[in-house]
Amino acid sequence: MTLAPELSDRVLGELVDALGGEYVLTSKVARMNRARVPAPFPVHRWRERIPDLVVMPGSTAEVAEVLRVAHAHRIPIVPRDGGTGLTDGAVPERRGIVVDVKRMNDIREIDPVNRTCTVGVGINMLKLNEELAPYGLIYPDDPASYPCSLVGGRTGTSGWSLIGSRYGHSRDLVLSFEFVLPTGRVIRVGDGGGAKVSKSSSGYQLKHLFMGHQGTLGIATEATLKLYPKPEAELSPFWAFPDYEAAYRCVQQLAHAGIATFAGAVLFDEWKVAYLRRDDEAYIPQPADVRALVCAVAYGHEDEVRAGGRRLMRIARDAGARYLGDEISQGDWAARHDRYATPLHGRTKSGQVAPMSWHCEDAAINYTELPQVRLEWHGIVERLRERFDVFDDWGMFCYTSADTGVDYLTEIDVGIWEQNLDDDAWAAWVDAKRDIAEVALRYGGSISACHGSCREGEVDLVPMELGGGYDVMLAVKRAIDPHNIMNPGKYGLDRAYTSGGDV
Ligand SMILES: Cc1cc2nc3c(=O)[nH]c(=O)nc-3n(C[C@H](O)[C@H](O)[C@H](O)COP(=O)(O)OP(=O)(O)OC[C@H]3O[C@@H](n4cnc5c(N)ncnc54)[C@H](O)[C@@H]3O)c2cc1C
Repeated sequence: MTLAPELSDRVLGELVDALGGEYVLTSKVARMNRARVPAPFPVHRWRERIPDLVVMPGSTAEVAEVLRVAHAHRIPIVPRDGGTGLTDGAVPERRGIVVDVKRMNDIREIDPVNRTCTVGVGINMLKLNEELAPYGLIYPDDPASYPCSLVGGRTGTSGWSLIGSRYGHSRDLVLSFEFVLPTGRVIRVGDGGGAKVSKSSSGYQLKHLFMGHQGTLGIATEATLKLYPKPEAELSPFWAFPDYEAAYRCVQQLAHAGIATFAGAVLFDEWKVAYLRRDDEAYIPQPADVRALVCAVAYGHEDEVRAGGRRLMRIARDAGARYLGDEISQGDWAARHDRYATPLHGRTKSGQVAPMSWHCEDAAINYTELPQVRLEWHGIVERLRERFDVFDDWGMFCYTSADTGVDYLTEIDVGIWEQNLDDDAWAAWVDAKRDIAEVALRYGGSISACHGSCREGEVDLVPMELGGGYDVMLAVKRAIDPHNIMNPGKYGLDRAYTSGGDV
C-alpha cells in the first residue's frame, strides 16, 4: 500500500485543492527531514523510510480532508509533531503521506477560572508556558524533551513527565481532544462529553484509547489541557552515595515520605555516574568514590517547599548521602528538561572516542525489581559490546512515576557508532532490545513507561505483554481503520487484517 504512480497526479491535485500548493511538499529535502528522529531506526537503511509526500494542514477541517483523500485512495498516513519520539512512531514504514501538524500551534482559549487552556496540537510546552505565565498558571507536562516535543506527540505517545509524581503525566493533564478518524470523521474524546471535565462515568473511557496509539488510529488536532498555579518555589537537591544499595534505599524513602510537594526522584546507577564523569561535558565530575546519585524535586508554595525540603534533606542524610550543593543541584535539574543535547560521542572498548547516537530503552519496573533488572540489562549490553565494537553502555536512570514509588521509569542508555553499523550489528542490537524487553516482562513490568514499544525487537513481545488485550487491540484497529491507512506496520497491527483480532 503506497502512493501508486498512476494516482500521484490525482492525489496531489486533491491535496493541493484542499490545502493550497504551499502546504503540499514534494521536495526531497522536505521529505527526508520528516524521516529524521533522534534515536533512529537503522540509519544505513534510511532511504526505505522516506515518505512520498508531506502535508502541513492548518486546521482540523484540512486534516479531515487529507484523511478523506488517503482513505479513498488507500494511502498510508503518518502523523508527525515534534519528531522526538524514541520508538520511531513518526517514521514512515510504508512511505505514503506524512501529516506534519506543526502549523496548528495556536492558543485558542485560556480559561483561568476553570484552569484550562485549549490549543492546537502543534504547540510546544515551552511556548505554551511562556503565554500562560502572565496568568500565573503552568501546563506541567515536563518531559526531558520539554522544548522540542509538542502537545500532539505527547498525546500520540501518552507521554511521561519528570514531575508526574506531583502533577500526573500527559494522560492526566490532557482533558479532551478533537480527533480525526481515518475516514475523515471528526470526534471529540475526553472523560465523557464535556471538553473541560476531568472525571466522568459516562460510556466507554475513549480518551485513553486515543492516547498512546502512536498515530495508528487517527490524528489529534486540538487539545484542552489542565492547568496548575505556577509554583512559587522549586527545590531540586542532588546527593552522592558511596554505593548503589544506599542510593536505591534512599530513593524509595524519599518517595514514601508523603511530602505533598514531592514531584519526583531519580536514581543514577554506577554505570551512569561513570559515563557522566567520563563524557558529559555538562556535568561537574564527581570523585571516584561516588558510585551512585539521587536527585529529588519539589514544587509548590515557598513555605511548603522549604518545610518539605528540610524533610527530604534529613532522609537523604540519614541514608548516607552527601549533598552536592545548590549550584550542581540546580544545574542538573535545569539540564534534565533538555536532554536533546546529550554529548554525541561514546567510547570503543579500547577507550577511543567515537561519534555515537543515543538510544534509550525504557520500561516500567516496580521498585522491588530494580536491582535485578539493572544487572540483567547491563549484562545484555556487555555481551553486545563484546561482539561488536560499535556499542557503549551509558548507564541507567530510574525515575519515580508516582508519589508512592510503586513503579519507576527505568532506562538504559546505549551509544551506537552509526557510521560503523552494518546489518549484522543492527540484527544483534534488535536481539538485544528484544532481550531487554523480555527482562522487563519477566520481572512483572511493562516494556515501555514512556516512549512506546513499536521498534524492531521489543515490538515482538507486545502480544505477550498484553495477552488477550492485544486481540482487543487488533479488533479495535480493524474496526476504526478498515483499510489500515494509519501508520501501517506499527505495533504488528497488520495482522488485524489477515488473522487474529477475534474477541
Ligand atoms: C532528549 C529526549 C528526551 C526525552 N524525554 C522524554 C521524557 O522525559 N518523557 C517522555 O514521555 N518522552 C521523552 N522523550 C520522547 C519524546 O519526546 C516523546 O515521546 C514525545 O511525547 C514525542 O512528542 P513529539 O511531538 O516529538 O511527537 P512525534 O515524535 O512527532 O510523534 C510521536 C508519535 O505520536 C504520533 N503523533 C504525533 N502527532 C500526533 C497527532 N497529532 N495525533 C496522533 N498521533 C500523533 C506519531 O505518529 C508518533 O507515533 C524524549 C525524547 C528525547 C529526544
